[in-house]
Amino acid sequence: MPLLRDVFLAMSTNGLVKGFVVNFPLSRRVCRRFVAGETLDEAIQVVKKLNASKVQVTFDQLGESVTTESEARAAKDGYLRALDAIASNHVSSQVSVKLSQMGLTLSPDLCLANMREIAAKAKAIGTSVTIDMEDSTLTEATLDVFKKLRAEFANVGIVIQSYLYRSEEDIKALIALGATVRLCKGAYKEPARVAFPQKKDVDANYVKLSQMFLQPNGKSNGAYLQLATHDEKIIDWAKAYAKDHSVDPSHFEFQMLYGIRGDLQRRLAADGYTMRVYVPYGSHWYPYFMRRLAERPANVVFLVSNLFK
Ligand SMILES: Cc1cc2nc3c(=O)[nH]c(=O)nc-3n(C[C@H](O)[C@H](O)[C@H](O)COP(=O)(O)OP(=O)(O)OC[C@H]3O[C@@H](n4cnc5c(N)ncnc54)[C@H](O)[C@@H]3O)c2cc1C
Repeated sequence: MPLLRDVFLAMSTNGLVKGFVVNFPLSRRVCRRFVAGETLDEAIQVVKKLNASKVQVTFDQLGESVTTESEARAAKDGYLRALDAIASNHVSSQVSVKLSQMGLTLSPDLCLANMREIAAKAKAIGTSVTIDMEDSTLTEATLDVFKKLRAEFANVGIVIQSYLYRSEEDIKALIALGATVRLCKGAYKEPARVAFPQKKDVDANYVKLSQMFLQPNGKSNGAYLQLATHDEKIIDWAKAYAKDHSVDPSHFEFQMLYGIRGDLQRRLAADGYTMRVYVPYGSHWYPYFMRRLAERPANVVFLVSNLFK
């Protein structure tokens, strides 16, 4: 239902609708399906439970598109606190960061300085940072910051979206760098000039881009693929392809979002695959929540039925 997708993606950036949804008393309860909590403490409890079922985590402190430098610095401080909490609670978690939350659109230098602090702290506690990919107006600037950061910190990876035409070239460059790449399909509304309009082409490109990483052991230049998808057909394909091409399961991992396909997450972890869940927390949940509704019309039924409970 592409129309419904467009409606929710348009709502995700509309301030008026946001005001209505965020202040609607039951919205908080409903969004808890996808968001671990509004506080770091609540999120840490979720991580402990996931870790107990052998599931790894990457934390996302919700927030994007800050409009002042002080908001960007406050968001960076929030990530430093999250990294402290990961260390002091002895949980296994990485962090995922949106550069528009770190001030990318205000000043790329400020954004880079914020990311340096996060990457250094993550390195000090022995974990990694992944840079999320936002809409296509930020792709080039996001890759620029990533490349600068990666030259200093090996513990930084980046997201690439299979719906963008440019991603094949980006992946070639990232494999040459030996980078860690989280491959997703892409969650934003993009024009046909930059992204495949048809879902079947996005899915086919996902498989094609994954194959570029899944090389027989020792031949992928140290590049590491994180398959971020709930698409069971693609997951089954990746498992079979890796087996047929002698790619050890330690050379890739599966990733999913908190609240989506928990059954499959636990099954993959129990089967011995590295399974990492993206756990968002915080009070700025509105655009993230709208993107999750846009991905699957059935979520709207879930939303409406909860409102009447
Ligand atoms: C770890 C992780 C990080 C991500 N980071 C980014 C990022 O930085 N930038 C970006 O643009 N996108 C990001 N995404 C979102 C991604 O681009 C997709 O929008 C999202 O994962 C849905 O696509 P899919 O691959 O699961 O496949 P789809 O073909 O959309 O879905 C396959 C199946 O998964 C299930 N499913 C998918 N979405 C939902 C949902 N919302 N609710 C319930 N069930 C669902 C359904 O069973 C569906 O049939 C990320 C996704 C993951 C898993």
